[in-house]
Amino acid sequence: MNPRLLAFALTLALPLGAQTSKPDVFKRIDETKAVYDDIAMKIWSYAEIGYKETKSAALLQDRLKQEGFTVQAGVAGMPTAFTASYGSGSPVIVIMGEYDALPGVSQEAVPEKKARADATAGHACGHHLFGAGSAQAAVAVKDWLKASGQKGTIRFYGTPAEEGGSGKVYMVRAGLFKDVDVAFHWHPASANGVIMATSLANKSGKFRFAGVAAHAAASPERGRSSLDGVEAMNYMVNMMREHVPDSTRIHYIITRGGEAPNVVPAFAESYYYVRSPNRDVVREVWERVEKAAQGAALGTETKVEWEVTGGVYELLPNEALGRAMHENLQAVGGVKYTAEERDFAAKIGRTVLGQAPAPEMAELIPPFNPTPSGGGGGSTDVADVSWTVPTVGVRTATWAPGTPGHSWQAVACGGTSMGLKGMNVAAKTLAGTALDLFQQPDLITKAKAEFEKRRGSNFKYEALLGDRAPALNYRD
Ligand SMILES: [Zn+2]
Ligand SMILES: [Zn+2]
Repeated sequence: MNPRLLAFALTLALPLGAQTSKPDVFKRIDETKAVYDDIAMKIWSYAEIGYKETKSAALLQDRLKQEGFTVQAGVAGMPTAFTASYGSGSPVIVIMGEYDALPGVSQEAVPEKKARADATAGHACGHHLFGAGSAQAAVAVKDWLKASGQKGTIRFYGTPAEEGGSGKVYMVRAGLFKDVDVAFHWHPASANGVIMATSLANKSGKFRFAGVAAHAAASPERGRSSLDGVEAMNYMVNMMREHVPDSTRIHYIITRGGEAPNVVPAFAESYYYVRSPNRDVVREVWERVEKAAQGAALGTETKVEWEVTGGVYELLPNEALGRAMHENLQAVGGVKYTAEERDFAAKIGRTVLGQAPAPEMAELIPPFNPTPSGGGGGSTDVADVSWTVPTVGVRTATWAPGTPGHSWQAVACGGTSMGLKGMNVAAKTLAGTALDLFQQPDLITKAKAEFEKRRGSNFKYEALLGDRAPALNYRD
């Protein structure tokens, strides 16, 4: 047995009796680092896209079962969604974990662009770290509950297809958060900080145009181009951009545009996202996009149908929980690079557009800011959870400072020790905050009061994607 493996085997055999304080829990997280690093790297290499995360979900489930959690797989109509629970009674704290990769960003763990030979997708949003780090935190809290005799329940929710699939929305709709007091999340990033910025509400779907095929040169008058339908719709939507509220974001790609230039395409498809900081704006603009689709079909004598495949709210922050998590993040500290990692980070920094901050920025914990402006450029299905139960999250420096998400650079960093160090910071921060909540019921009461106030008394949850079943094939 090599010395590293021996050390690893010894840590697994450590008695749990000592873990009655927060430093003990942090220590235990360090001692079990190799186990969760291995899980994260396996999920990184599987690089499974939304609703296809079979191996990734199974790996996490196996670990949690071994740790004594009761696992229920295939919840809320999604084969790769699951819940894992330990303990009994209240409070009930859920730590969410994601594990879906992004299509088209395959990348080796090297600081120059180099696709993997064995994968087309990649963990460009770092969800391999998100899943493994959250599971590690849940297990650490479980060990502490066991050792300290504290009452309460810790759960890990395996939440698939965050990228466009809105997996958590179906879990909210299925009532899986009904008995939950507080939910935690975290996200890989290029800097550390508690997540107090809101995110963009987002509605997405596919517009499918049907035309009539014909020889494009010999009998074009007998054809009607489905691609014309797609292009006419895009043209109208692009003009619409001038007449929507500021900070609305509309993006599309053409997922099908015909097979050969000499055949009038009988089928074409576009994939749209409409985003805004306000979900009501999303609803309104989406309806106008639907009208553009209808107009395009009318003018090109094609037929159009659409399918809403995703829909998420804007994130609802919680200051009481944010402050508690910030204190824990501060106690844990940022990510310290070795000379080798600093070199890797500097190389990555030279490949991104604009001036990348110095690698040392990964060590910094910015002061707590309850109302940050901007910074919420993306969307997340965590948002729907945040309107259901008080929710808080942290981001940690898993990527070289300045690395944009959804990039090959993010896949590369996430596949190195830098990513795993960021995950370690997140696992400790989540576990530490959970300990605080279990030991301070007042904090939960305060968070709930703030949550009710922010949500408003008339709030009624209606998913942006309606009552559809999970779009399990949205990546096909
Ligand atoms: Zn993402
Ligand atoms: Zn993400």
